[in-house]
Amino acid sequence: MNIVLMGPPGAGKGTQAEFIKKEYPIPHISTGDMFRDAVSRETELGKEAKKYMDAGKLVPDEVTIGIVEERLAEADCQNGFLLDGFPRTTVQAEALDRVLSSNGKKIDVAINITVPNEILIKRLSGRVSCKECKVVYNLQSNPPSTEGICDKCGGELIQRSDDQGETVAERLKVYQEQTNPLLTYYARQNVLQEIDGNRDSKLVFADIKNRLESLR
Ligand code: AMP
Repeated sequence: MNIVLMGPPGAGKGTQAEFIKKEYPIPHISTGDMFRDAVSRETELGKEAKKYMDAGKLVPDEVTIGIVEERLAEADCQNGFLLDGFPRTTVQAEALDRVLSSNGKKIDVAINITVPNEILIKRLSGRVSCKECKVVYNLQSNPPSTEGICDKCGGELIQRSDDQGETVAERLKVYQEQTNPLLTYYARQNVLQEIDGNRDSKLVFADIKNRLESLR
């Protein structure tokens, strides 16, 4: 199945992607993770992306579309994939459709996780993740057993620089302006599934799984 996972920053896309990955053996492609990896390796792409990420803005479409197109051409994506955080603009969605249709494929489902803004702000300010295995915790709702240490692998827990202060507000604004219109785009294609993300993550996943099963 070719899945797009949508929702504002803090909606729980990363957490749900982990659940989906365990249940369905398809590659998880997160453009945010790809950019963070490039930033930490200080590649040319990373240096370019960092300017936008630190400001809470979107990396330009041509750069983002290029890396996704390359990734989708890899062998493991030929029997389905889970895109997380892409597309985020109408230009990206149209480019994705073009790439897929030239290979006789399409997006089967766009899952949109909805969460009220005030909850998103709380979640983002309490979010930390493991530097090593990337597992996400929330200091209020899902804290690690030992402060600052990952339960799963013992790695150091860090806060993303773009989860701090003004950048959060900017990311939410950018989401409203540039990504929200995509809901109409996918609704028109009859592939949109709206999921209430303001619940325990296991309940959210149960809902997602039901929807995916009904589409199989
Ligand atoms: P995320 O982890 O998905 O919240 O992404 C972190 C940051 O990476 C975003 O705030 C953007 O700066 C950049 N980014 C991730 N995905 C995209 C995308 N599809 N288009 C443009 N920028 C992106």
